[in-house]
Amino acid sequence: MDITLQQVGYLYAKNSPFEKRALHEVDATIHSGSYTAIIGHTGSGKSTLLMHLNGLLKPSEGIVKIGDATITAGTKAKGLKEVRRHVGIVFQFPEHQLFEETVEKDIMFGPMNFGVDKEEARRRAHELIEQLGLPKEIAEQSPFELSGGQMRRVAIAGVLAFKPSVLVLDEPTAGLDPKGRREIMDLFQVLHERENLTTILVTHSMEDAARYADNIIVMHDGTSVMNGTPEEIFSDEERLATYRLGLPRAVKFQRDFEKLIGRSLSK
Ligand code: ADP
Repeated sequence: MDITLQQVGYLYAKNSPFEKRALHEVDATIHSGSYTAIIGHTGSGKSTLLMHLNGLLKPSEGIVKIGDATITAGTKAKGLKEVRRHVGIVFQFPEHQLFEETVEKDIMFGPMNFGVDKEEARRRAHELIEQLGLPKEIAEQSPFELSGGQMRRVAIAGVLAFKPSVLVLDEPTAGLDPKGRREIMDLFQVLHERENLTTILVTHSMEDAARYADNIIVMHDGTSVMNGTPEEIFSDEERLATYRLGLPRAVKFQRDFEKLIGRSLSK
């Protein structure tokens, strides 16, 4: 399902002395089946934007369209459950949200909450344990006995278990070592391709944006300042610099090399 944002604005603690504008006039389009990276400096509005992608926050201004659902400031909470079933969010450090006695129960929680029966939820839990490269025996263990990387996979399985068609990832590799980071990112790539999942990655890694995404949204000071293919976004180094973003190393390396040899490598 396509997601579009039209002139979206958001104020935290609206109409209170603590009112704080986090988003203004955000326009962006995320096509079904795309792999979209949302990049931008700390405080640019990425996390606030991400919470609009499944109705956790409703826009103070403007419109968010998620498939057939239209969300505005006046949308009632009741209308949002269906949206949440389609858009799964893996928050930063998702392992902090594990809470059940066993891994199996933890993964089953999400789908059962959306009305999936117990046996089907259990079947999905076991299937995901295998798909995410976790040992079978883990199902009966407490999630708190696992390694950090394993805990993160269990938390991700908990989101995948309700079979969202859009998967939103908020800095999914934060705190992992380079090997763990690569493994998790490659896993998402496989899921994206195999399940035709629309994938939305919030990251401050320009490298990951360049490596995995086919669509990039650049956030700056609470608004979307660029939206295009990686080629389009990374062709304008000067403009990116005004948003305090540098080119990914691989792109920079290629540019420098092309300058050196006096021709383009892509032709
Ligand atoms: P990013 O994810 O890019 O770091 P955020 O969406 O977290 O950006 O923040 C955007 C702006 O909104 C920042 O100025 C931040 O201080 C503010 N903000 C974020 N969360 C809250 C909140 N719960 N209450 C008030 N202001 C907030």
